[in-house]
Amino acid sequence: MAQIYERVALIGLGLIASSMAYAMREKGLAGEIVGTARSSETRDLAREIGFCDRVVETAAEAVEGADLVVLCVPVGAMGAVAEEIGSHLQSGAVLSDVGSTKRAVIDAVGPHVPEGVHLIPAHPVAGTEQSGPRSGFATLFENRWLLMTPDEGVDPEVLARYKSYWEAMGALVGEMEPDHHDLVLAVTSHAPHLIAYTMVGVADDLRRVTDSEVVKYSAAGFRDFTRIAASDPTMWRDVFLANKDATLEILGRFTEELFALQRAIRTGDGEHLHDYFTRTRAIRRGIIEAGQDTAAPNFGRSGGGG
Ligand code: NAP
Repeated sequence: MAQIYERVALIGLGLIASSMAYAMREKGLAGEIVGTARSSETRDLAREIGFCDRVVETAAEAVEGADLVVLCVPVGAMGAVAEEIGSHLQSGAVLSDVGSTKRAVIDAVGPHVPEGVHLIPAHPVAGTEQSGPRSGFATLFENRWLLMTPDEGVDPEVLARYKSYWEAMGALVGEMEPDHHDLVLAVTSHAPHLIAYTMVGVADDLRRVTDSEVVKYSAAGFRDFTRIAASDPTMWRDVFLANKDATLEILGRFTEELFALQRAIRTGDGEHLHDYFTRTRAIRRGIIEAGQDTAAPNFGRSGGGG
């Protein structure tokens, strides 16, 4: 595949940035990949692993001469990074990010974008519970959605080029209005993460069931919760603080439904439970039909279901 950008700067060198670097290299999408991270430990580790052509000390230095700059830091850190790099961005460059929420990032980054720089906020709906520069892999974005939330005024050619870059890394690219993005992701990702954190917290607090019993008899349902609840604490703290309104709206609805199910269990209303579970099963089928998960039992993993 042909080179799309001459110099790509990755700010923050964790799961997403390292995966982008591997994918870019594999497809030959960038002339040079320059990276930087906040701590010297991460910068040294990234140099040792070698997924960037150059790892530099500061974000300001990293963006010099870059025609694509991607912010790959937690959403709460985007504003400060944008402020640092703003005056160093090359005219005509694309400034993007991979943050899991969009409205808060646009509000924080927008004021620091100089005239002549194209801001294209984006979110790869792809990830794992791993973090840091060792966790990346080239196929992370394959067949996963990359949601862009560009301003109406953005140059269509610049946008098309950035779209082709993500498609070359294997992503399916869609466009959304930022607030709608945040509501959709509150349903599909943010609220489920909070529920997983809560469920694992409950198991931990419930003294009548010992920790070793929880681990030993961990059935598939709980195991999946623990996997999600092992996600990076900084990233997820920032997601909830940044997507407060949409998450609270979804959690409000969740609580109402939970109370309805609780009442059905108490009153022995099996019909309610059966109807509800029939409806949710159809949603699972839809996800599989859309190619976003596997129909294999236990998500294709071998060993102990439950
Ligand atoms: P990660 O593996 O934890 O890496 C985060 C990077 O950001 C590290 O290089 C870290 O530097 C740097 N960083 C942390 N706090 C910072 C601060 N206050 N100022 C400057 N740099 C800071 O994170 P990730 O999973 O790649 O996530 C990066 C972004 O992608 C986040 O905005 C997240 O919402 C989004 N995202 C994540 C996923 C996912 O599943 N993980 C999926 C889609 C989108 P040090 O190592 O030096 O601390």
